Amino acid sequence: MNGAEIIDGKAYAAGLRARVAAAVPAFRVAAGRAPGLAVVLVGEDPASQVYVRSKHKATVEAGMESFEHRLPATASEMELLDLVERLNADDRVDGILVQLPLPSHIDEKRVIATIDPDKDVDGFHVVNAGRLAVGEAGYVPCTPLGCLMLLKDRLGDLSGLAAVVIGRSNIVGKPMAALLLAENCTVTVAHSRTRDLADVVRRADIVVAAVGRPEMVKGDWIRHGATVIDVGINRVPGAEPGKTRLVGDVAFAEAAAVAGAITPVPGGVGPMTIAVLLRNTLVAAHRRAGVALPEGAIG
Ligand code: NAD
Repeated sequence: MNGAEIIDGKAYAAGLRARVAAAVPAFRVAAGRAPGLAVVLVGEDPASQVYVRSKHKATVEAGMESFEHRLPATASEMELLDLVERLNADDRVDGILVQLPLPSHIDEKRVIATIDPDKDVDGFHVVNAGRLAVGEAGYVPCTPLGCLMLLKDRLGDLSGLAAVVIGRSNIVGKPMAALLLAENCTVTVAHSRTRDLADVVRRADIVVAAVGRPEMVKGDWIRHGATVIDVGINRVPGAEPGKTRLVGDVAFAEAAAVAGAITPVPGGVGPMTIAVLLRNTLVAAHRRAGVALPEGAIG
């Protein structure tokens, strides 16, 4: 019996995108220009091409300016750094996103460190990681911020809740833990060296799984009524030969039988990432232009 509420990330993301789009005309009037997002793609990685295309489409649909820059896979690190510097200096650009992964001859850390932290709408710059850690306004990576929005939408005040984050990457696990701590959760970060993971997860009111292992988190790890956010996107063989399907890091059917609420894969966390990217770009535009963003406009 499937008892959990299914958290509809697709619907929440559509709502957030609509709220962002609705705030753009007032910004245009106040600043005399649209918010602008620059996306840089190096090389021809097929998955990255799909992401960059969807980001461009979503940016334009929100009424923002999209600046796309494509460099060949053979581009040197210096060429990419020069481009980032030009985007840093370009006043029409509020957000800069360099699509990862980069070709192996380019140092990702160096590229991210070159992005102006106040245009770092991906929230990957160490300055923004530091701002998050100490509770200053900055930019938070899109996926964990999207997870937090879904959690607050479902649970309201998170104060005092026990949260277990499985995974400690700089992109998802660590910022997720920092966000939950800032919401006054009691946070445990589990990872590949954690002992008795099932027992750790059983204590959680909130479980965020960001591991990258198909259906690793089992139903009997979940406390009755817990809220489960599944960040994992894993491609596994499908029912028909030659076909694949997407699954999360959580064994969905088992977990949904005991959880209070759970995000599906696909349709849960996935759609939130681009919606939050647009949200971060809108925030960056207002901060850079010195225009106040109407209170509560975008959550
Ligand atoms: P990562 O590989 O950088 O980190 C994985 C983490 O999982 C590590 O910290 C590791 O310690 C932990 N881990 C590995 N094996 C474990 C085990 N057996 N037990 C407990 N912990 C274990 O991955 P990431 O970038 O954080 O992404 C995690 C997942 O989220 C992936 O499936 C990725 O595709 C997905 N993801 C989705 C979105 C989105 O929805 N838009 C965005 C980013 C990542």
